[in-house]
Amino acid sequence: MKFGTKLIHNGNEIDKQTGALSIPIYQTSTFHQEDIDKPVEYDYARSGNPTRKALENSIAALEAGDRGFAFSSGMAATSSVLSIFSSGDHIIICEDVYGGTHRISSKFFTRFNFEIDFVDAGNIDNIKDKIKSNTKAIYLETPSNPLMKITDLKGAISLAKENNLLVIVDNTFMSPYLQRPLELGADIVIHSATKFIGGHSDVVGGLVVVKDKELAQRIYFVQNGFGAILGPQDCWLLLRGLKTLKVRMDFQQKNAQKLAEWLSTRKEVAQVFYPGLPDHPGRDVHFAQADGAGAVLSFKAATTDIAKRFMKKVSMAAVAVSLGGVETIVSYPVKMSHAAIPIAERERLGITDNLIRVSVGLEEIEDLIADFEKSFEEI
Ligand SMILES: *Cc1c(COP(=O)(O)O)cnc(C)c1O
Repeated sequence: MKFGTKLIHNGNEIDKQTGALSIPIYQTSTFHQEDIDKPVEYDYARSGNPTRKALENSIAALEAGDRGFAFSSGMAATSSVLSIFSSGDHIIICEDVYGGTHRISSKFFTRFNFEIDFVDAGNIDNIKDKIKSNTKAIYLETPSNPLMKITDLKGAISLAKENNLLVIVDNTFMSPYLQRPLELGADIVIHSATKFIGGHSDVVGGLVVVKDKELAQRIYFVQNGFGAILGPQDCWLLLRGLKTLKVRMDFQQKNAQKLAEWLSTRKEVAQVFYPGLPDHPGRDVHFAQADGAGAVLSFKAATTDIAKRFMKKVSMAAVAVSLGGVETIVSYPVKMSHAAIPIAERERLGITDNLIRVSVGLEEIEDLIADFEKSFEEI
């Protein structure tokens, strides 16, 4: 079955109790137990809920994993995954990882004696150099945010296998439609479902999928014990969002390609970062592990003044954090997503005052380009 069909028919689309074509929102905290001597599938809604189960089974099917888990946010998902490790464990994380992941790993998990190293994962040797006897996992994000740097997943996975490490991939930017790390041999996939999976800027949620049953037990222990679960209403919104993932992504990606090409021709723009452009570093590696360039791009304006003017004047696109919604969203990383990073470190990473990130939406591209063109004008 092809991916687009699987979004609609993955075995979790019809309610087994009633035949409803939309999984009902099981708004309940607990479940009646007919016979206390007989085990039941659902006993308490932190441990399991049928709406959540449908979502968890759907994402597991779409990411080609054994089991899925829904959490109250992408960060709850990431934090719960990191919680399977123990004091004294060492984890290698790509340096341009999502800001919240950087913060929770370096400022929270280190309090529990986790050892964390951040590396430029664009070169696999940088990961290799950091592996030591207590290293347990490599945590990656590709393409990265906001400069769309590419990590060679197959290279990292084979290095991890040689050293008996787990590979965790934050797959938020690509979604399971464009990239499926578990099929390449990764162990755990994480999504901020707030982004492309929800797709409508109306829900915050996180998803995790694992390949291996033993690993699934470790994650379930944290999900149930720590309890950062996603409520049934929000699970329902994600189930609904998922069904249109392919059509949204196809259209948004086409828009992103056109917008990236158009931006590349503008004198107000110094550089465009998008894996769909022929000269994007790591483009070949990206297309060997993913089926498309996605719908997020960034660009450096020729000057900081132009960038600031653009941010002030842009009107159809929303100015906001977040991405992956039906509407185009522009953000200014140095003041928004990456404001917490010290200036020197930001400059080293290339996150400069003239950088703008764009999550391209479902508008007609001509209207979007007209909005951008107007926003570049001096008056
Ligand atoms: C937004 C985001 C997160 C965090 O997800 P929340 O749902 O906001 O908690 C993690 N990783 C990436 C790549 C993101 O874009």
